[in-house]
Amino acid sequence: MPGSAKMNYRNRRLLQTVSCAVLIAYTMLLVYQTLSRGGPEVAAGDKLSAKAYHRDRNLAEDRSTNEIEIPQEGFTTEMASATATIKPPTTTLDDVFISVKTTKNYHSKRLPVILKTWFQLAKKQTWFFTDTDDPEYQMRTNGHMINTNCSSSHNRKALCCKMSAEFDKFLESEKKWFCHFDDDNYVNVPRLVRFLGDYNPRDDWYLGKPSIQAPLEIIKKEKKVLKKIKFWFATGGAGFCLSRALALRMTPVASGGRFVSTGERIRLPDDVTMGYIIEHLLKQPLTVVDQFHSHLEPMKFIRRDMIEDQISFSYARSKDEWNVVKIEGFDEEQDQNRFLSLHCFLFPYFSFCPRRR
Ligand code: UDP
Ligand code: MN
Repeated sequence: MPGSAKMNYRNRRLLQTVSCAVLIAYTMLLVYQTLSRGGPEVAAGDKLSAKAYHRDRNLAEDRSTNEIEIPQEGFTTEMASATATIKPPTTTLDDVFISVKTTKNYHSKRLPVILKTWFQLAKKQTWFFTDTDDPEYQMRTNGHMINTNCSSSHNRKALCCKMSAEFDKFLESEKKWFCHFDDDNYVNVPRLVRFLGDYNPRDDWYLGKPSIQAPLEIIKKEKKVLKKIKFWFATGGAGFCLSRALALRMTPVASGGRFVSTGERIRLPDDVTMGYIIEHLLKQPLTVVDQFHSHLEPMKFIRRDMIEDQISFSYARSKDEWNVVKIEGFDEEQDQNRFLSLHCFLFPYFSFCPRRR
């Protein structure tokens, strides 16, 4: 055999030996992996407790938040165990308790448009607090009307009575966030949830928007001495949210009917009483959120390209003038308060929305 042919033959033999060794090693590795993959089987879509992970990092043990979510669709057991990653606690719609204050005379005037639009996106999480039994709306809301037995007048005591019922029901619910709205609010549900995701419900949060330019000043009698106190409050007609941590701190003065007696003591409406308890008594300042809107501000100033980013809207009519969101869509007779048009702008796939080409 000539010298170069001999070299080629040797190289080939060497290559064959190395390939063979690699193949054997790889096969052994596969066998080892298959045998050693023991432990509990986890089905796709299940939630794994990540307690160990959190213990390592010295975090509080709250089962509801310390979980790993495995995507539901198209994942086999093996793929799930290979792709599960530990996510930070996230906020979902189910973490939010949404209360809507209403009254018997407004059921048929104000609830239908809510039920047709944003309620559809939060049916399980939204509750209507009213002052009568109404079988028709009880059925239309899937049993989500709560008769507070509060008086059906617009006086301070009746309104504080309803807020008190809302607050107590939230505490019972064990949800992370309490969000109150009026029955003339449109709530942009996914935006609300995304917004709350930026805050930790285990910290104290009072999120809303004031309707006055300066803090409210009241004179309070403390130990027989008159004192001037100042505080901000989130206007109830724009909606506001409280974290569970803050709500728990409020319980000594706000739960089990104590909200009403506190309101009576300062003789102020429900939303002002809320501000008084949180800002003045608990010294927790209001975080101003511009994306909440009441009809105390002109709705027409909300720019079209900013609509998607807003959390709540409202409407009002004074004399013959409507204060409504400026948005194209349904004509005025069909949609005076513009909620149908607003809803179709945000969620065009709803069946009552005009088909877009
Ligand atoms: N409301 C109530 N009882 C009444 C009148 C009103 O609970 O006797 C509720 C109503 O359903 C709404 C809120 O209070 O959620 C504000 O009512 P409205 O919009 O009529 O008055 P505003 O204070 O906004 O001018
Ligand atoms: Mn109103």
